[in-house]
Amino acid sequence: MEGYAPGEQPRDRRYIKLNTNENPYPPSPKVLAAIQAAVTDDLRLYPDPGAHELRKKAAEVYAVPAEQIIAGNGSDDLLAMLFRACVETGATRQVAYAVPTYSLYDTLAVIQDSKPCTVPFPADFGLPVRELLALQTRLTIICSPNSPSGTVIPLAVIEEFARAAPGLVVVDEAYVDFARETALSLLAACPNIFVLRTFSKSFSLAGMRIGLGFGSLDVVGELNKVRDSYNLDRLSLVAARAALDDVAWMKANVAKVVAARDELLAELGKLGLSVLPSESNFVFARTPSGDAAGLYQALRDRGILVRYFATPALRGGIRISVGTPQENGALLAALRDIAAGR
Ligand code: PMP
Repeated sequence: MEGYAPGEQPRDRRYIKLNTNENPYPPSPKVLAAIQAAVTDDLRLYPDPGAHELRKKAAEVYAVPAEQIIAGNGSDDLLAMLFRACVETGATRQVAYAVPTYSLYDTLAVIQDSKPCTVPFPADFGLPVRELLALQTRLTIICSPNSPSGTVIPLAVIEEFARAAPGLVVVDEAYVDFARETALSLLAACPNIFVLRTFSKSFSLAGMRIGLGFGSLDVVGELNKVRDSYNLDRLSLVAARAALDDVAWMKANVAKVVAARDELLAELGKLGLSVLPSESNFVFARTPSGDAAGLYQALRDRGILVRYFATPALRGGIRISVGTPQENGALLAALRDIAAGR
């Protein structure tokens, strides 16, 4: 099998890193203080396998009962649990999603010895509802905002889909804090919805590996059976709790990123790139020349890393994470230089 290829984490030099959708702003100082305070002799002891304190806090913040919440070592860990629990090895019609999307889903399906059912997104990245429902799979994944397009599926569409779907509908909301609406509000009415969140983007904690899953008691119970008992270490548990104690810090950073994103979309448009509407912390832009690989390399040569995908459906495009205004300015200056042949 082919393994998942994560975005590059370069070690050769310092780049302006706009390739893996990290937050350009630091985590809350309260989070850093909480981690430091947890560096004690207690690290000889295993962490709480039930993540009780974190789930209790998450229940308050997200208004979902703690019993319906499960914590993961990043949301990738929760995705792995979902595939382990739901996808039957060797069987057909197990998991479906529209593509292009987060390519880890492909890898997780293959690990289960299953062939994912994929449906191409239309040009506007709306959800191909009829085609996905026709597949009648156990699991459907809706990534909203989707990566790498940055586009969202309206809640009304997700709800309609979940009501008609025969199986579990996972809404991967890794980027939802940069968007306008969340499927968490659908949980009560649609027990087959499972919502995934991460602390890697809006909370600036990609380095700590923290994710949360929200779903029915049944689904959370099944996921707990396939979960590594100590999947979050002591420092991650403390960091996640502290982050939820300072949601205001996250929201302030999100507001800065959203403002910079909208400005970046406008400026890329002026430079002749065609952009998709984004409700995330990255933008997908197509070059008029169609040579996205060349553009990726030219930016890289200038010390700026973006993400290029060789996938045919993403031809001509690059995904750019929104940085600070200075970083975005440097990107735009580099794009102008490249266009002028400088
Ligand atoms: N879902 C999507 C759509 C993502 O882009 C990512 C980040 N690569 C993840 C989930 C996983 O995030 P993490 O494991 O850092 O929580």
